[in-house]
Amino acid sequence: MNIKIPNAGIVLLIGPSNSGKSTFLLKMVDERSILKSEIASSDEYRQMVGDTDFIHWQQHSPDESEVLFQQYHQLSSEAFQLMDAAIEARCRLNKTTFVDATHLRDEDRKKYILIAQKFHVPITAVILDISEETLLTRDSERDQPRGKKRIKQQFQLFKKEKRTIKKEGFNKIYYLNEEALDHAFIERGK
Ligand code: ATP
Repeated sequence: MNIKIPNAGIVLLIGPSNSGKSTFLLKMVDERSILKSEIASSDEYRQMVGDTDFIHWQQHSPDESEVLFQQYHQLSSEAFQLMDAAIEARCRLNKTTFVDATHLRDEDRKKYILIAQKFHVPITAVILDISEETLLTRDSERDQPRGKKRIKQQFQLFKKEKRTIKKEGFNKIYYLNEEALDHAFIERGK
């Protein structure tokens, strides 16, 4: 599939952990379809502010789990503040930014639709629709697994949300399943 991306604006990748958002974007960098500097990755901003991109909170006792969850929440909140400021700056400069985060909740997507409107730039959604089975297999094989429970929760939320995304105000939406994603490439300036 041909993904046509305008010369300026925001491109939101949408998909659960392990759907392959970062892998796809890095492949596009290798193919010189996009620049590395055009990617805003929530994992990288978490690393930047907190030296880690994930804190496992679900495999602990309820008390420990609560403390770790709060730590992860704070880490994410600091990371997103910084990332969103960078995205706004890039919009002001009429640059294109590919946002690499799950964007599973409608308020997470709404935030970027409002930023795009504020700066009068287009916003595109690229939805990675990958089976739960594949997400779980990839998770068990990755260096820092997110955990079965978390992946299942994300998949359920994704299944519910993907039906309503088309009504949210994106200028263009691309739906990619596993096969389409394997053959997808990005066309610029469209
Ligand atoms: P997260 O939201 O957790 O950052 P993500 O959607 O960005 O996840 P990636 O980081 O790209 O996903 O990939 C997660 C794992 O899945 C990695 O181990 C990666 O190698 C594997 N993976 C991603 N895409 C594919 C693919 N097309 N085929 C096989 N494995 C893949």
